[in-house]
Amino acid sequence: MGVFDGKKILIMGVASERSIAWAIAEALHREGAELAFSYPNESLEKRVRPLAEQLGSRNVIRCDVQSDSDLQNLFNCLEASWGRVDGLVHSIAFAEKEDLQRRFSETSRAGFHTALDVSAYSLIAVCGKLARLFPEDGGSVVTLTYLGSQRVVQHYNVMGVAKAALEASVRYLAADLGEQGIRVNAISAGPIRTLAASGIPKFKEMLGEFGDKAPLKKPLTTEDVANVALHLLGPASVAVTGETTYVDCGFNIMGI
Ligand code: NAP
Repeated sequence: MGVFDGKKILIMGVASERSIAWAIAEALHREGAELAFSYPNESLEKRVRPLAEQLGSRNVIRCDVQSDSDLQNLFNCLEASWGRVDGLVHSIAFAEKEDLQRRFSETSRAGFHTALDVSAYSLIAVCGKLARLFPEDGGSVVTLTYLGSQRVVQHYNVMGVAKAALEASVRYLAADLGEQGIRVNAISAGPIRTLAASGIPKFKEMLGEFGDKAPLKKPLTTEDVANVALHLLGPASVAVTGETTYVDCGFNIMGI
């Protein structure tokens, strides 16, 4: 018997087998969860469908989080197929490459809007749309953030501002949805090689500094993050909401 037997969980943000969302999906599947997946566009659909099938899911739904009609489509499809949702994994972020490459003070207005819309507002929008699908005894939402929200990390730029907004949104959503028993938490992961990470200039140097400074001398894996996501999505954390939990081998505690 798995901890998630009979639970229906939506996974947003699988782009490849390296995605953090994919490791979380695999772990949930092992524990008995039934999964649905979203994808933002046709080219990702081609990657997400076969991956979903590996975990026995044909519930694969288009949802570019910048599109209100896609968000409505997500709700309609889940209402029709499942009638309820017990959990949500939001593992989505995007910023224009130029805004990560130039000086922060030169961030474009359009780039700021895009980064905040995709990486922070999308959590509010998806929670708002799907809240009605959560059962009376509630459910759990987990999103992914990074230390660049709290400290200046070179080249993280507008994405750091978006992650700060995301973490604040986690607290406001937790307060708003708490009376429905819906818990909302964030995991602040250390650096891991994924497609999104490859868009951050000097990511290799970030990994190097992480390896030098983090108290736990081990490379961080998507499985490490998935294990904590399982805890936050499952019954062992019923009294935890609005939190940002660091899964970064202790990097964030270090000073000089
Ligand atoms: P990933 O595999 O590239 O996943 C990012 C996902 O976001 C992709 O599926 C991407 O699709 C999707 N996305 C972008 N724009 C979207 C939109 N408009 N609508 C719907 N989906 C959209 O990278 P990842 O590292 O696993 O990232 C997952 C989350 O973890 C992100 O929030 C990231 O900031 C966070 N995180 C990552 C690290 C790290 O070091 N990897 C550390 C801390 C936190 P496309 O491929 O089409 O853009």
